Amino acid sequence: MKETSFLEGLAKMFDRAAVVLGIPAGLAQQIKTCNAVYQITIPVEFRGDYHIFKGWCAVHHEHRLPTKGGIRFSPTVSQESIEGLAALMTYKCAIVNVPYGGSKCGLQINPHEFNEAELERITRRFAKELIKKNFISPSENVPAPDMGTSQREMAWIADTYRTLRPGDINAIACVTGKPRAQGGIAGREEATGRGVQYALREFFRHPDDASKAHQHGDLTGKRVIVQGLGKVGYHAAKYLQEEDDCRIIAVIERDGALVNEKGLAVEEVKKYLLETGGIAGYPNGHYTVDGKTVLEHDCDILIPAAASDQITRDNASRIKAPLIAEAANAPVSFDADEILKKSGKVILPDIYLNAGGVTVSYFEWIKNISHIRFGRMDRRLDEKRGSEIINAIEKTVGKQVPEEIRDRIILGAEEIDLVRSGLDDTMRLAYQEIRDVLLLRKNVQDYRTAAYVVAIQKILAAHKEVGL
Ligand code: NAD
Repeated sequence: MKETSFLEGLAKMFDRAAVVLGIPAGLAQQIKTCNAVYQITIPVEFRGDYHIFKGWCAVHHEHRLPTKGGIRFSPTVSQESIEGLAALMTYKCAIVNVPYGGSKCGLQINPHEFNEAELERITRRFAKELIKKNFISPSENVPAPDMGTSQREMAWIADTYRTLRPGDINAIACVTGKPRAQGGIAGREEATGRGVQYALREFFRHPDDASKAHQHGDLTGKRVIVQGLGKVGYHAAKYLQEEDDCRIIAVIERDGALVNEKGLAVEEVKKYLLETGGIAGYPNGHYTVDGKTVLEHDCDILIPAAASDQITRDNASRIKAPLIAEAANAPVSFDADEILKKSGKVILPDIYLNAGGVTVSYFEWIKNISHIRFGRMDRRLDEKRGSEIINAIEKTVGKQVPEEIRDRIILGAEEIDLVRSGLDDTMRLAYQEIRDVLLLRKNVQDYRTAAYVVAIQKILAAHKEVGL
C-alpha cells in the first residue's frame, strides 16, 4: 500500500481534530490551506560558472503577524515539504502562545557541497529575492535557522536586509537565531533541544501520563535513543544526560549508528562528529552502518531529531520504544502514526515538542524590537533587594545565612536565566493545555490530536476576534 504523502497526512491529522471540534468544513479548509507560496530560481556565479538554485517560501496562515518559520537548506526541499512545514509552524505557534502565523522557506541545496564563501553568496542572493517580495521583514515574515542553516546564515541574511532597508529601525528583527553580537539572544542555539528536555520533564511530572507509556519515576536512568546529533538532537541529548541522568544508549547519524548500553558520552560523540564529519570509527560504541534499524532497538524514549519520514509504514510495526518524542518535524508519517497508536505507543508530537525554538525566537524578536537586553533594567535592583532581605533575616535571627544560599538569593537574573525560565514556563503550560483536552474530551485519545485541537481552537478564536 502506498504511503500517505506529507501534505495529505497533515490534512488528515488536522481533520481528525476539526471533527472533534465540529467546525464547518469550509472554515476547516480555510485554516489548513496555505495562503501564499513563492517559488524562485536564483543564479549564483562561482567556480567560473553560473549555478542555478531553486527555492520556496510559503506563508501558511496570517491570523497573527509576522509569520514565522525556519529557513531550510537541503536537497530534499520541495514545494510540498515547505508548504507542510509552514502549516506545522502555524499550529506550533498557537500551541505555545507565540503570536505569529506560520511560514517556511527553503533552498534545494546540499550545503556540504559548497565552501563558506560560496554559501554566503548563495544565502545573500536567496535573501535578497525574499526581501524584495517582503518574504523577509520584521513585521511580515521572520525566518530562523532550520536544518542546514545556523547563526551564520542568519547573520548574513540580517546584514543583507540592513543593506537593502537602511531606514528600518527594526531591521535586526528580520530574522532570529542570530549570533549574540548581531542581536541574537542567549539560549537560542540550545532552545529547541532544551524545549524537548522541559517537555519530557513535564510529561514525567504526571505519573498517570508516564504510566501510559509504561514509564515510572522521573527521567533518571531512562534509556534514550537519539537520531540526529545536530542543533536539536545534540542539545536535547546533552541536557538529558547532564541534568536528568538519562542514559543515551544510541546515537543515529547520516553515516550509521553508535550503540552502547552503558551510555554514550554525548559531548565526546559530537566532538568526534564535528572533527571527522561522521560517527564511523568512534571508539567507545558499537558502530553499525545501517543506522535506521537502530530506531527499532529497545529503549524507554526514542527521540527522532534529524529529518522527516523516518518512521513510516515500513518500519512502524517494529518500533519498540513505548515513548516517541518528535524533536524533528514530521519524523513519523501519518500511516506510521496510526500503526504506532494501535500498538499502544505514546507520541509527543512535533507541533508541541519542538516548539522551544520558535518560543525563544519570539523572545529574541521582542528584544530586537524593544532595543534592550532582557534584565538590563532590573537585574541590579533584584540583587539589591535580595541583599536587603538577607541582611534583615540575619539581623532578626542573629545568625549568618550560609554563603552559598546568600549568593543564590542575591544573584540577579541574567538573560540566559530569563530565557530558560520563559521557555520552561511555556513548555509546561502548553503541555497542561494539551493534557486538559485529553482529560476533558473523551473522543480524543492521543497527544497529537489533542495538540491540534488546542491549536485550532486558538486560531478560530483569533479569527472571531477580527471578524473573519
Ligand atoms: P541540523 O542540520 O542542525 O541537524 C540535523 C542532524 O541530523 C545532522 O547532524 C545530520 O547529520 C543528521 N541527519 C540528517 N539526516 C539524517 C538521517 N536521515 N539519519 C540520521 N541523521 C540524519 O538540523 P536541526 O536544526 O537540528 O533540525 C533537525 C530537525 O528538527 C528538523 O526536522 C528540523 O525541521 C527540526 N526543528 C529544528 C528547529 C531548530 O531550532 N533548529 C526547531 C524546530 C524543529
